[in-house]
Amino acid sequence: MWVVCDLEATCWRAADDPELSADQRHQAEIIEIGALRVAPETFEILDEFSEFVRPERHPVLSDFCRELTHIAQAHVAQADPFEAVWGRFCAWLGVPLDNVVFASWGAYDHAQFKRQTRAGALTLPAWRHFNIKQGFAEWRRLQTGDRSPLGLGAALDHLGWAFEGTPHRAIDDARNTARLLAHIQSPANLGEPAWRMMAALAQAGRPVALERLRRLHPSLSLSLGRTRRALLNTDLVRAPETGHLALTPAGHRALAALAGIHEAGGEPSPTTEPDADSLAPR
Ligand code: AMP
Ligand code: MG
Repeated sequence: MWVVCDLEATCWRAADDPELSADQRHQAEIIEIGALRVAPETFEILDEFSEFVRPERHPVLSDFCRELTHIAQAHVAQADPFEAVWGRFCAWLGVPLDNVVFASWGAYDHAQFKRQTRAGALTLPAWRHFNIKQGFAEWRRLQTGDRSPLGLGAALDHLGWAFEGTPHRAIDDARNTARLLAHIQSPANLGEPAWRMMAALAQAGRPVALERLRRLHPSLSLSLGRTRRALLNTDLVRAPETGHLALTPAGHRALAALAGIHEAGGEPSPTTEPDADSLAPR
């Protein structure tokens, strides 16, 4: 289960409030939580959480903050403080949280949750954080070789997509982030190197060390590291032990679907024959 989340927080521009702006990292408080529960594999949006939060340390939003987020003073003034909204958010997430992947654009949202739960002596769930910005960068590098980091808007631009809704509103940022997540996680968008690596893993039929994969399938070598990273960002491939890779059940299903997509372009099979050992059952 994926939870795609975005936060807005109090903020200040240096020109208006140099002191608060310089210490924004510690002074900022969450003013909006937007989150979507997203189904694994299909990336269908199952439901949404969207609430404003009343900041307590600096209750009055700066002009800059209101302009940036389009959140009005009245929105937050009428909202509950963080502790109450956090409680509802956790209830919405549901338990157990072991299977929840908390996904957000960049490191900010997760870090801010960490700071604010720690400050309020609240418990951060034991979720795994997936940085979609990093995942997108890996994916794009696989497609174009470009390493430069992208903001949310620029990532949408890269795909020729328009932002839907109001930028810097948490729920709209979360919705657009979820669109990118679905895109980079879709097997059809992973591209040929990933497809070839998945075919090689299926052929091996058990967890394979990366070095072994390189020896058996020289055609994978060129982008082996990048392909591995991009695939590990998906739920198609797992690393059951350090340096090894294996297809997940979702990976096997995706590979079957991909065969149809790529068949016209030729066989995904590796360029060299695998040795008997690599085909041995587990
Ligand atoms: P975002 O999810 O990009 O809307 O950003 C989350 C929060 O980061 C915002 O609510 C602000 O508190 C802060 N933030 C984003 N962009 C800026 C900016 N250009 N200057 C100052 N703070 C910002
Ligand atoms: Mg946002």
